[in-house]
Amino acid sequence: MTFIDETHVPTRRSWVESAQGDGTDFPIQNLPYGVFRRGGSGEPRIGVAIGDAILDVRGAAEAGLIDGLGGALTGSTLNAFLAAGDGAWRTTRRAVATLLDAGTATLRDDATGRGRLLVAQADAEMLVPTAIGDYTDFYCSIHHATNVGSMFRPDNPLMPNYKHLPVGYHGRASSIVASGQPVRRPQGQTIAADADAPTFGPSRLLDYEMEMGFFTGPGNATGERIAMREASRHIFGMCIVNDWSARDVQKWEYQPLGPFNAKNFLTTISPWIVTLHALAPYRVAGPPRAADDPPLLEYLQPADDMGVDIVVEVLIASEAMRAAGQAPVRVSRGNFRDLYWTIAQMLAHHTSTGCPMRPGDLLASGTVSGPTEDARGCLLERTWRGQQPIDLPDGTQRKFLQDGDEVIMRAWCERSGAVRIGFGSCRGVVQPAG
Ligand code: MN
Repeated sequence: MTFIDETHVPTRRSWVESAQGDGTDFPIQNLPYGVFRRGGSGEPRIGVAIGDAILDVRGAAEAGLIDGLGGALTGSTLNAFLAAGDGAWRTTRRAVATLLDAGTATLRDDATGRGRLLVAQADAEMLVPTAIGDYTDFYCSIHHATNVGSMFRPDNPLMPNYKHLPVGYHGRASSIVASGQPVRRPQGQTIAADADAPTFGPSRLLDYEMEMGFFTGPGNATGERIAMREASRHIFGMCIVNDWSARDVQKWEYQPLGPFNAKNFLTTISPWIVTLHALAPYRVAGPPRAADDPPLLEYLQPADDMGVDIVVEVLIASEAMRAAGQAPVRVSRGNFRDLYWTIAQMLAHHTSTGCPMRPGDLLASGTVSGPTEDARGCLLERTWRGQQPIDLPDGTQRKFLQDGDEVIMRAWCERSGAVRIGFGSCRGVVQPAG
């Protein structure tokens, strides 16, 4: 089931000129939410992206142009709005679309009001949009799991549980930053292949992981579950996630309890949350299960189409490339629909024990890799542990990330009969270890 309404109509236009055409990620059909600060100072405010601008949602609510939902839209994070639930999300999306519609004169014909409520994205600093109480990272790409598994366990790449449940681990919410924040190379304990004992120092095998994440809505009480048929009402929207990973640290520490310091130093997210409502035209059936795949247990059975067709892309620009004005080079392009598990299954499985979700929690998919080499979403896979380095236009090669490298992730949805919408970008530049 998808809920297409007047907010998705492809011919709809905004009076914000930059919101038209294929060049923008943020047409009026998108309307993603974020939290911004004017000029890098001032208080955090909730906003909605439109073209190259931001509608100051708090300001619009205080001016009585949209319903402030009793304060849910005037705080410094989106948590109260996410707690308000699906009905409030729909009402507000409709109200914002109406306010920005080319046919609505309220702000269109009010230069003073526009000056107050419309902020250029170039003049704003974007922040992490929710106070993230908990962060979980999954491992939902069977291509990624098979590739990585075959490097470390050639005879047994997929664990016996893989096709029965979405594997995940509890991450570190405190280490999540918004796009653009520097990425300090972590130090850690590693052991050389021929060594008897580990050493401590800067990670030599720093990697990115191209992932998509989703923010939870009202959530569930401890001891209760979120069923598959209820999942879409508990998922507010999605963003890009870069799960920076120290592969040498990971290799030494990961058994028996999984990733720890290899991933807790930093995770970068794109600042705009594209809502599940905006993604409705791009919902697809979940991944087909092969004839010899084991049957799903009942609590993971799909209730509706919860796959999402999202193109995901990774680009790298070295410091030398940026200095020479060279464009970032594309390293991979994949699709979120190629995952083995859907976001509904991640949520249903996570809460199947009665584990409580709170508004604004972040759940990420794991590396999004596809069936082809150029769809591999991390360097570990893309260079096959460094055996197939990537050539950069500055004449250097990459097996893993070097200091000064900028990693740029993008994601967008397109389909005939619908307007293309995008997620903006998720960026970070690697700094030397401290
Ligand atoms: Mn990951």
